Amino acid sequence: MQTFHYLNSELYCEDVPVSRLAADFGTPLWVYSKRALLTQLEQIQEAFAAANPIICYSVKANGNLGVLRVMQQAGSSFDVVSGGELYRVKQAGADTTKVVFAGVGKTDDEIRFALESKILMFDVESEAELDAIGHCAAEMGVVAPVALRLNPDIDAKTHAKTTTGKKGNKFGMDSERVHELANKVLKNPNLDLCGIHMHLGSPILTTEPYELSAKKAVGIVADLRTQGHQIRYLNLGGGFGINYRGNEAPLAKDFAAVIVPACKEMNCQLVLEPGRFIAGNSAILVSQVVFTKMEGGKKFVIQDAGMNDLVRPAMYDSFHRVWPVKPAVLPPEDFEAEIPGCEPVDVVGPVCESSDYFAKGRFLPPMVRGDLLAIFSAGAYGTSMSSNYNARPRAVELMVDGGAVEVVRRRETYADLVAHELPE
Ligand SMILES: *Cc1c(COP(=O)(O)O)cnc(C)c1O
Repeated sequence: MQTFHYLNSELYCEDVPVSRLAADFGTPLWVYSKRALLTQLEQIQEAFAAANPIICYSVKANGNLGVLRVMQQAGSSFDVVSGGELYRVKQAGADTTKVVFAGVGKTDDEIRFALESKILMFDVESEAELDAIGHCAAEMGVVAPVALRLNPDIDAKTHAKTTTGKKGNKFGMDSERVHELANKVLKNPNLDLCGIHMHLGSPILTTEPYELSAKKAVGIVADLRTQGHQIRYLNLGGGFGINYRGNEAPLAKDFAAVIVPACKEMNCQLVLEPGRFIAGNSAILVSQVVFTKMEGGKKFVIQDAGMNDLVRPAMYDSFHRVWPVKPAVLPPEDFEAEIPGCEPVDVVGPVCESSDYFAKGRFLPPMVRGDLLAIFSAGAYGTSMSSNYNARPRAVELMVDGGAVEVVRRRETYADLVAHELPE
């Protein structure tokens, strides 16, 4: 079954014409394909099957309960980075004994909430955090399972704002510190060092960084076992790239080919934390053209979705394919090229910031007021980073399953915008 596709010059999500959704629910509008979510999860499940992986979908990519329920029902577990995300996965009915908890700034309240929830393990990012977890566990009379997060000092060649496994950024610890902390754990009966964790950054478009980090893990796991730790898990994080432009991303099986052998060599159970890989191409953001204008020798297409809905271009200079919902010309292979019958435009939003754009100098068929646009690959780090900036209510989110449509988040109202500021 198809996910997002053009049929008779019209964009569909599975069996539903996107223009019908826009007519029924208004714009801006998020449309998810359940089939896309499941297909991506299945690709990871199948590619890594030989390592018997625990797949922990990374909630921060998209934590909508509708998405989490689809993941949970299909056998995925979850990676969380806050108490709020842990609450979300519980609301979605997750088995918390398979949840992993990462993040550099876990508070005592969050640690206690995670211990009460009996999570699989904490990804520990510093000595102070290890101490805090040990302290909370002792108070509660429990043993906290921990994995130490290694910063392997590998350049994953992502955007400066999204690289996390390189020396000098705030994530993880170098291998010396990992060994120091491992010693400390030995003396603490409330801590169980059960794994090694890494997450290199995102999106990663080659397999080498994973190959290098898996190799680093082999030596460290052996050392820690010699020290007396029962290391059961190797967690290589997420970061698997997706196709935003064309066919730039490796397949899940390409990543698996470099990871699974190392994991087997260590006799560890593999943990993965894919976020973008699962959610990225599972949703589009649909908008409507409000005005067009010529200014400074350029044509601007001003549409009703903004950086408050999807901040990635403003924040990371990200590329998103943009194309009309009912185009006169079918979408090209190469969205960056000059396209006959099209004109170069800047696709911008209504927010009062120059960084509020979705595409610059992009060739699009001539657009007029009222036309619908689809912004593709918007499923990851779209709604989860959205805000009410400029007092813009968050858009409605729809889950499409074949011909069925479910509202998984209703559109916010003006009253919602002020609800928390009014006296109870
Ligand atoms: C953000 C994050 C992920 C997910 O990254 P993706 O690129 O979405 O796969 C996984 N693990 C950790 C620790 C993260 O912070």
